[in-house]
Amino acid sequence: MKGTTLTIVVPCYNEQEVLLETSKQLSVLLTNLIDDFLISKESKILFVDDGSKDMTWTLIEEEMTKNSLIKGIKLARNVGHQNALLAGLETAAKQSDCVVSIDADLQDDIQIIRTFVEKYQEGFDIVYGVRDKRETDTFFKRTTAVGFYRFMNKIGINLIPNHADFRLMSTRALDELFRYKESNLFLRGLIPLVGFPSAKVFYDRKERFAGESKYPLKKMLAFAFDGITSLSITPIRFVTFIGFLAVIISAIAGGYAIFQELAGHTESGWTSIIISIWLVGGLQLLAIGIIGEYIGKIYREVKRRPRYAIEVDSFSKQVQEKQKPGVFRNAVWK
Ligand code: UDP
Ligand code: MG
Repeated sequence: MKGTTLTIVVPCYNEQEVLLETSKQLSVLLTNLIDDFLISKESKILFVDDGSKDMTWTLIEEEMTKNSLIKGIKLARNVGHQNALLAGLETAAKQSDCVVSIDADLQDDIQIIRTFVEKYQEGFDIVYGVRDKRETDTFFKRTTAVGFYRFMNKIGINLIPNHADFRLMSTRALDELFRYKESNLFLRGLIPLVGFPSAKVFYDRKERFAGESKYPLKKMLAFAFDGITSLSITPIRFVTFIGFLAVIISAIAGGYAIFQELAGHTESGWTSIIISIWLVGGLQLLAIGIIGEYIGKIYREVKRRPRYAIEVDSFSKQVQEKQKPGVFRNAVWK
């Protein structure tokens, strides 16, 4: 029996501080799983270098020469975590039965990958890694995260609370996922939409092993906002609702003003006028802004641009060699 071929996909952006440790720990784990006949000998670790500016790719190349379990793909430029992850998943899916995705920083407990595989073999297509506690996150990150999941749920986006991108997926679930062609990728929101039998495995999330978070507050907010606007149109409905409310309030205020006029109390209405001008103007700008955000998204989607480009692929067995600039070939001219 061939057994399950597992590929562990690890997106890396400027991760030179952690890469060797991650590679060491994951290969020990993979070797153990192979020795226990849980997965096949073809199983691999696939590092995706997301256009890093540091030594990340050099380190991956070195690791590849030393360790046959390790493979790497290098993206032509930085495309962000979600797209880099997708690049890894698409590459891995071609030659695996199931794929685990994990961050390079060792914050997730790699030991539970064994449980992931066991769940897969029991018949689950998607196995979510769910953080039990968030003690290692800052208070700010923790509370904002809780608020975010509540809010997302309210506006109809089904997310698995405390689950990031640490999960196992079968290739048949991945193939379904690849049919979602959107440029505004928010994988966590899409995967529950794919369906298939799924399971959760709980673990404690640790401190980043080394290096800094690549998600500063600004990026985190942008990510949350992207998540909302790429999966839900509730904010646009909300704008419409506020618009209605404003119309009703102004009708009441108008009635009141006319009544005052008829009753002869026509003294200065300056305050109310100024307030309403600003309020309505503000609401309009807000509404235009939200609608603009969606139009921006549509603009990006209709262009159907590729989501990443692979510069080097050491994983796929039959990659057609394309000529690279600077590579001299002995062409025979006749
Ligand atoms: N990452 C990436 N491209 C980027 C930013 C991040 O591939 O443009 C990777 C990063 O190397 C890491 C994962 O995405 O493996 C998650 O990033 P990080 O740990 O910094 O995020 P946090 O855990 O702080 O949310
Ligand atoms: Mg992290």
